[in-house]
Amino acid sequence: MTATSSLSDVARRDLADLSDNLIGPADSGYDEARAVHNGMIDRHPALIVRCGSPDDVARAIAFGRGQGAAIAVRGGGHNGGGLGVVDDGVVIDLSRMADVEVDPSAGTVTVGGGATWGDVDRATAEHGCVVPSGIISTTGVGGLTLGGGLGHLTRGFGLTIDNLIGADVVLADGSRVHADANEHPDLFWGLRGGGGNFGVVTSFQFRTHPLGATVMAGPTFWPIEQLPDVMRFYREFLPAAPRNLGGFFASMTVPPVDMFPAELHMRKVAAVMWCIDGSEEEATRLLAPVHDVGTPLLHGVGPMPHPVLQSLFDGLYTKGLQCYWRADFVNELSDDLIAEHLQWSQKLPSMHSTMHLYPIDGAAHDVGAADTAFSYRDTRWAEVIFGVDPDPAHADDMRDWCVGYWDATHPYSAGGAYVNFMMDEGQERVRATYRDNYDRLARVKAQYDPDNVFRVNQNIHPATGA
Ligand SMILES: Cc1cc2nc3c(=O)[nH]c(=O)nc-3n(C[C@H](O)[C@H](O)[C@H](O)COP(=O)(O)OP(=O)(O)OC[C@H]3O[C@@H](n4cnc5c(N)ncnc54)[C@H](O)[C@@H]3O)c2cc1C
Repeated sequence: MTATSSLSDVARRDLADLSDNLIGPADSGYDEARAVHNGMIDRHPALIVRCGSPDDVARAIAFGRGQGAAIAVRGGGHNGGGLGVVDDGVVIDLSRMADVEVDPSAGTVTVGGGATWGDVDRATAEHGCVVPSGIISTTGVGGLTLGGGLGHLTRGFGLTIDNLIGADVVLADGSRVHADANEHPDLFWGLRGGGGNFGVVTSFQFRTHPLGATVMAGPTFWPIEQLPDVMRFYREFLPAAPRNLGGFFASMTVPPVDMFPAELHMRKVAAVMWCIDGSEEEATRLLAPVHDVGTPLLHGVGPMPHPVLQSLFDGLYTKGLQCYWRADFVNELSDDLIAEHLQWSQKLPSMHSTMHLYPIDGAAHDVGAADTAFSYRDTRWAEVIFGVDPDPAHADDMRDWCVGYWDATHPYSAGGAYVNFMMDEGQERVRATYRDNYDRLARVKAQYDPDNVFRVNQNIHPATGA
């Protein structure tokens, strides 16, 4: 019997009443349970505990600590660096805690720590409201929120954390606290951008915003050679546009699916994926200048329910693809930087590979750099380079293109990167990302997790002598 399997045996004794929700290496569902979204991650935990309550979470933490095992917390399992799973340690899987309860009269929604954004979007849409999140419905609420949360509605409603009004947290010592602006305000500050460093969030409470039955959404595509014209237009147009207009830039390959004309299939394009919270007439008026840029191959903006928009890419970015990530914040899309984007975007190494620029402005700029842990409030774009392919034999090609692209564009960056778009890039990058907020984060860490129990994340080291 290996040391790894013996830990799961001990768990069956110590956590006997959870035995239906304990998965160890010898169990038949082990490989499925340990798999995360990124197929490049192949880690073998000693034990997975599917927790159904804050009590279960507290007991799983105590068990892991008692065994001296590393603890990973899994929300949706989407993290690029595979931070929802750890070799030889204990995974606290929150997927059973996915309840969503909308309170339309209060304009709030309460969400279980293991819910996905699809769970939230479907529930809020029934009440004509929304919480701004990302662009894929299968992403976990937990990781996306704790890192910041960027997506189609950021310009109008801010980052996801700007809409977080409270959280229930199980701390490293097993105690349970509620954090909001009045209770444990330092913890609440750290949760808004500081990742999973401070505890396990078993429930998130968000403010909602009214949203119509449909948004106006869809892409404009241009030949990839026209990327410089499109990016130059985009860098001026978007920051000046009203906040109800969102649009992220993408270098991409048109997927061979029915929603796009066959003659565009597999063509490399420069694209902007638009989302307008407004009427068809308003969207047509606001996007009129887009048609004067280069020679668009397709302008496919139309009405769709918000949950449909959020699921558009689910079928493309399915679980198990080989994904290599690199990221940066970008203040300025200079002509020299655009020239690098053209060069590297023309070399997209696979149909799934892409480069995205997500706007950080509008409502995201209303919040100060020190108001939450998310420091880069003054930047303009979050860039992510995403080398993706289904075939593990192509993993090195994905990494090489991604790193080459990043090496070429990083000199033009603002410094740090959005933590949710990073893999394992080391402590210096984490510090660069939190800038002046790092020292306060380290003090909050020392207060709430002095032994660094929660270290399978973009880690904040506890301040010493705090
Ligand atoms: C295809 C794809 C598209 C994406 N698109 C976007 C996007 O549009 N916008 C955006 O902002 N991000 C996006 N992301 C990035 C995403 O925000 C991160 O991958 C995020 O970490 C995913 O959260 P998760 O809960 O699914 O991940 P997990 O891998 O489960 O967890 C990630 C980290 O968060 C911690 N964590 C998760 N839940 C909790 C919790 N309840 N309590 C405490 N700690 C917790 C984990 O311990 C871990 O450190 C995308 C990712 C993918 C794969």
